[in-house]
Formats: sequence, C-alpha cells, structure tokens
Amino acid sequence: MSNVAGTRAVVGIAGAGIGGSTAAIALRRLGVEVELFEQAPGFARVGADINLTPNAVRALDGLDIGDTLRLTAAQPTHRISRTWDTGVETSRIEMADHAVERYGAPQLTIHRADLMHALEDALKDVRISFGKKLESVADGDRLHLQFADGTSRDVDILIGADGIHSAVRTWMLGPEQPEFTGVVAYRALVDTERLAGLPNLDAFTKWWGPNPETQIVTFPLDRGRTTFVFATTPQPEWADESWTRPGDVRELRAAYADFHPEARALLDARDDVLISALYVRDPLATWRRGNAALLGDACHPMMPFMAQGAGQAIEDAIVLSRCLAGGFASTAEALDTYQSLRLPRTSAIQVGSRGNSWLKASGTDTQEPAGELAIDPDTVYGYDAWNVPLR
Ligand code: FAD
Repeated sequence: MSNVAGTRAVVGIAGAGIGGSTAAIALRRLGVEVELFEQAPGFARVGADINLTPNAVRALDGLDIGDTLRLTAAQPTHRISRTWDTGVETSRIEMADHAVERYGAPQLTIHRADLMHALEDALKDVRISFGKKLESVADGDRLHLQFADGTSRDVDILIGADGIHSAVRTWMLGPEQPEFTGVVAYRALVDTERLAGLPNLDAFTKWWGPNPETQIVTFPLDRGRTTFVFATTPQPEWADESWTRPGDVRELRAAYADFHPEARALLDARDDVLISALYVRDPLATWRRGNAALLGDACHPMMPFMAQGAGQAIEDAIVLSRCLAGGFASTAEALDTYQSLRLPRTSAIQVGSRGNSWLKASGTDTQEPAGELAIDPDTVYGYDAWNVPLR
C-alpha cells in the first residue's frame, strides 16, 4: 500500500455519506489505506433527488462511476429562470451537450439512492464499519476514535465527513448549533405524464418568488419519466430537520396561491409531499486540527439554492484525496494545501447560496461576488477537481 507524506498512514473517515464515500473511493484508487466509519447500520436510502452540476459529474467521472449514473439520470436540456407571477423568462442557459463541450460533463439529475448505490458499488474494496457513531476524538501519536458502541480505533489521519452535526467539527472547534434559516422545503416526485401540456419539463426550471426564500424548482429524474418538484417558503417557527416528514399539501398550495398557473399546476399534481427545515452554518476560518480535516456539510452546509451541497462535498473529497496522496513533505502541509484550495471557493458558494440570486437574471453575468471569488457559472460549473493545481 502506498502512503501519505512518506509514512504508511491509515486514513479514517467518519461518515459514509456522499462526501465520505467519494473520499474513500478516491483515496483507495490513489493507493492510500483508508477505513470508513458510518453511524448508520447500512447505506441509507433516504432523500429524493440530487442535482449534480457539471463540476460534480466531472469529479465522479474521474472515479469511473459517471457511466453508471448516466444509466438512470436525466440530463436537463437548459437551466431556466422564470418570474413567479408573470411567467416571464429572465435567464436561460443551455446545458446537456453544451455543458459537455464547455465544462467537460453534463448536468445529471438523479435519485439520491441511485447515486448512493453507485458509490456503494465502487466501495467494494474499502473497509467500511457500520454502526460506528463517532463520539469523541483524542490527540496523541495517532488519533484515537471512540465510538458510541464502546469500541475504538486509532488512525493516523482523520477526515470528518460526518455531516451538518459533525462530531469531528465539534471536537475541532467546540460545540455550535447549526442555524435554522426560517425556511422550509417541500419535495415531491411527480409522474411526468401528469404534467402533460406544461412547458420545459426536460429542463431545470426555477420559478423566482416575490422574496428570495420563495421559489419552486423542477427538473426531470428517471430519464424524464419523473419530475422532481422542490418548493421553499419562509416558515419562521418550525424547525424539524427530518428528510422524511410528510408535509401538508394544502399549506403548500396556499403558500403559492398567487403564482402563475403553470407553476401552480406543478403543485396540483401530487397530494403527498415531504417537508424539511433548512439549516446552515456560516463559513469557517479553519477546517483542520492536527492531522484531521473536515469536508462537505461538516464544514460548509449550505442552502440548496445553487444546488451545490453534494457537488462541493464531492469536489472536497477529490482535492483532499489528491493532497493526501500528492507527495507533500508532511500531512500538515497536505491538509493546509487542501484547506487553502477549497475554503475560499466553498465559502463563496455558501454565501452566494444564502443570498439566492444566482442566475436569476442572466446566464453569463457574474452573480453575487462573495469575498474575492466571483461565482459566475463558468467558475462553478467549470471547476476540475482532478486537475486544479496543488499549489
Ligand atoms: P451527509 O450526506 O450528511 O453525510 C454524512 C454522513 O455521516 C451520513 O451518512 C451520517 O449518517 C454520517 N454521520 C453523521 N454523524 C456521524 C458520526 N458521529 N459518526 C459516524 N458517522 C456519522 N440534498 C439534496 O439536494 N436532495 C436530497 O434529497 C437530499 N437528501 C438528504 C438526505 C439526508 C438523510 C441527508 C443527511 C442529506 C440530504 N441532502 C439532500 C443534502 C446533501 O445530500 C448534502 O449537502 C450532501 O450530501 C453533503 O454530503 P456529506 O457527505 O458532507 O454529508
């Protein structure tokens, strides 16, 4: 087995979600010894959709799992913005083949379960321990991981990919609750045949509401047989974080009663919906402590408005794996390089997602410059995690 920074290091990853699984596959392929610890008893099948923009698909293509995803995913033809009451289009970007030409990969919209299944297949030769909820970490010659079931394990390097309530983050930076945004999200899967007559069903369409928190997004799944409907609206007093809680479709329809008839028709097509509260954290100043680093929602949970939650976790995983396998003189240097490459980008996208004006107006304008990084479509979609120079 190859090694990190000249040592025979074992990398432990807490969390086998999208980010942790991607990191484990990438590290293994780069010849690094890795072990994955997941709190759940097996791979979860919850959650409806994942919108993988070209930057995420290109990263997954580098792990040879993109072809599997393309078997069941849809490839939206365009990314369209429409105005909530008039229906007027304010932005239209070509995706599909145009995205392949411009960014090296298409946009894929896919069931979360299909993505997890593809990752699970690619994890075949990675050691995974389920039912291992990380409770605490202790510094020493190695990092001592203590699990809730009473067992423990020592590793040389720890990756905290354990989501928005990250135990690794708490150990690193102290306890701090994620913030409820006062926004809830409704989700529904609709048989596309039930929407016959509505335009743009093969595209990603966003209906921009009268305030930044109110919007309806639709895109195809299952190669177009299913349409995913995602609607957000302010709801200041409710804060359940579950991804499987049923919502009240009457409340959903009432919240969008003044929308254009074509938007309301999307909400009339199904009577059962799921509802979840949206939580975020502010960008962090650091993602590492000693030989441990964070990735994905553990360090940059974000609003879904730029559809970058999973994509940024995937990019983190590839860049971190390259840094750890990249011949740096020390683990500290490898992790510092990872942080310096990734933190400014994800912070800008976190802030941009919160502002929610991304691509409202124009397909080419720079939107919402956040800090020093402009987050125009080319910057977001054109990022190549496999080839970004490891400075
Ligand atoms: P996560 O996907 O949250 O994965 C973290 C993993 O760490 C989980 O497997 C968790 O069980 C594990 N874990 C947590 N704590 C510990 C611990 N102490 N010890 C060991 N393991 C631990 N986004 C969408 O756009 N659409 C969706 O439909 C959608 N559904 C989602 C459903 C669920 C259940 C979750 C958790 C997230 C969902 N998201 C969805 C959000 C999106 O998937 C995230 O932005 C993205 O997955 C970030 O990936 P991650 O690997 O950083 O974190």
